[in-house]
Amino acid sequence: MNRKAVVIGSGVAGMASAIRLRMHGFEVHVVEANAYPGGKLSEFTVDGFRFDAGPSLFTLPELVNELFTLAGKDPRHYFNYKRLDVTCHYFFEDGTQLIAYADPKKLTEEIETKTGVPAQRIMDYLRQSAEIYSSASEIFLENSLHRWKTWLNLRIVKALSKLHRLGIFQTMHQRNVAWLQHEKLVQLFDRYATYNGSNPFRAPGILTSIPHLEFNKGAYLPDGGMYSITKALHQLAVDLGVHFSFNKIVTEIKVENGRATGVMIGSVPMATDIVICNMDVYYAFRKLMPAQRAPERTLKQERSSSALIFYWGIRNSFPQLDLHNIFFSSNYEREFRAIFQERTIDDDPTVYINITSKYESGDAPTGCENWFVMINVPANTGQDWSRLISIARTDILKKLNRHLSVDLEKMIVTETVLDPLSIDSKTHSYQGSLYGTSSNSKFSAFLRHPNFSQHVKDLYFCGGSVHPGGGIPLALFSAKIVSSLVAEQNPGLTV
Ligand SMILES: Cc1cc2nc3c(=O)[nH]c(=O)nc-3n(C[C@H](O)[C@H](O)[C@H](O)COP(=O)(O)OP(=O)(O)OC[C@H]3O[C@@H](n4cnc5c(N)ncnc54)[C@H](O)[C@@H]3O)c2cc1C
Repeated sequence: MNRKAVVIGSGVAGMASAIRLRMHGFEVHVVEANAYPGGKLSEFTVDGFRFDAGPSLFTLPELVNELFTLAGKDPRHYFNYKRLDVTCHYFFEDGTQLIAYADPKKLTEEIETKTGVPAQRIMDYLRQSAEIYSSASEIFLENSLHRWKTWLNLRIVKALSKLHRLGIFQTMHQRNVAWLQHEKLVQLFDRYATYNGSNPFRAPGILTSIPHLEFNKGAYLPDGGMYSITKALHQLAVDLGVHFSFNKIVTEIKVENGRATGVMIGSVPMATDIVICNMDVYYAFRKLMPAQRAPERTLKQERSSSALIFYWGIRNSFPQLDLHNIFFSSNYEREFRAIFQERTIDDDPTVYINITSKYESGDAPTGCENWFVMINVPANTGQDWSRLISIARTDILKKLNRHLSVDLEKMIVTETVLDPLSIDSKTHSYQGSLYGTSSNSKFSAFLRHPNFSQHVKDLYFCGGSVHPGGGIPLALFSAKIVSSLVAEQNPGLTV
C-alpha cells in the first residue's frame, strides 16, 4: 500500500512538494483553505480587466520545467513563456529614463549613454553577480543548512572557502557603492534587496547575486500571465493523481509519540504518514500545534516587507511604459528607514507598475491597460492602514501625474486594493509579509526555519517562510529540499 502524505496549502511550494512526493510513490492529498490553488500566485478579473494578484516577475523557469520532466511530461504541453527583450523601464525623479535591455550590448550602451558609466563597469558588476550566485546558490539555496551532511559535502566545502568573497560582511548598499560608483545605478541595483523583502542598507552583500537572475539568466513572462504557472502545476499534480480539497482549513497537526500522524480539517481527522506544511511557519506553530515546543528565536526574526497594491483598470494606453516599470523615490535611504524602522510609508515611495496587457491584449478592454501599481510597505504591526493607504494613494497619483504629465485619477475605471491585512487573511502570511522573514542580517539565512521539524518526526516545511526564503524560485527550491529529506528518511522510495 502507498504511503500517505498530506500537504497543508497549495502555494507554489505546496504544489511542487505534492508533485515530488507523488513521484516518490506517495498518495498525496493537498488541503487548501481558498477556493483556488496558488496562494499568492493567483489572479482575478474585474470589468474585463485580468490581473495577476501577486508575483509579476518570472525568473529561473527551469525550476518549473524540472517538475514536468521529473514526471516524464513535456512542460510545453502545460505552459509556455517568452524571454523579455526589455526587462524594465526605469524613471528617476530628475527626468532620467533608462531602459534595461536583455541584450548585454544594448544594455551597457543605454547605461553609458544615460549615466556616463562605462560599459565595462556594468559587465564586471554582472560577472561578479554571477560568480556570487554560483557559490551562494550551492550553499544557501539547494541544500538544507540544518543537516550536518550538507557541511561535509566537498562541493559545499569548496563554496564555503569563497565565503569571504560573497560579501556577507558588507551591506548590499556598501558593495553597490564600491562597485558601481554612480548614485542612480546604486539605487537601481539596491532595489534587488526588495526581491526578498529586505533593506539594501542592512542586507548582506551576498544579495548582489540577485541581479544575475534577471540580467544574465533572463526575465520571462508566461503566456496568459503569471497565473499560468499555477494552472500548469495544478494540472500536472491532478494528472499525476494528487488529490486536492479546496475551501478546507487545516486546524491542527496531530502529533503522537513525537511524530506527525495526521491533520484535523475542521473537526474531521485525516491520518497520514507524513505532513508537509506550506502554511507560514509562524502560524503553523501558533495555530496548528500550539502545544509543541516552538522555535521562539526563529519565530521572532524580523519579518520581510509587505506590499500595498492598487489594481487599476486604466482607460488609456501609455506607449512610454512596458511590462515592468519603476518610478524611483528621490531618497531611497529615507524610504527604507520608513519601512523598516518607522514602520510607515514614506511620502515619496518607489512605485512599480506591471502591465500584462502590453503583451496579453486580452487582459484589458480595447484602448485600456491593466495596471498593477505596487509600493513596498512595512509588515503589519497594527498601523492605521486605512489612513496610510489613503495618503499613499494620493502620493502615488501625484508622482505618476508628474512623470507622465496626465491626470491619472480620471482614467481609473476600476480599483481593487491589496494591503498587508488582506495579504495576511488571503494567504495566512503572518503580518502580511511577502517573503516570510527579512534578510536584513548576515545571519538571516541560518535563522530561517529548516525544511523539517527538529522535534516532530515526519513533519516537513516548504514555502516562502522557511529555508531558503521567499519568491517563486526559492519556494521551488524548498520543495526540492523537502523531497530529498523525505527520500533520505524513507529508503526505498520510487524516484
Ligand atoms: C504582491 C506580491 C508580489 C510578489 N512578487 C513576486 C515576484 O515578482 N516574483 C517572485 O518570485 N515572487 C514574488 N512574490 C512572492 C511569491 O509570491 C511567494 O514567495 C510565493 O508565491 C510563496 O509561495 P508559497 O509556496 O510559500 O505559498 P503561498 O503563496 O504563501 O500560499 C500558501 C497557501 O497555503 C494555504 N494555507 C495556509 N494555511 C492553511 C491551512 N491551515 N489550511 C489550508 N490551507 C492553508 C493558503 O491559503 C495559501 O493558498 C510576491 C508576493 C506578493 C504577495
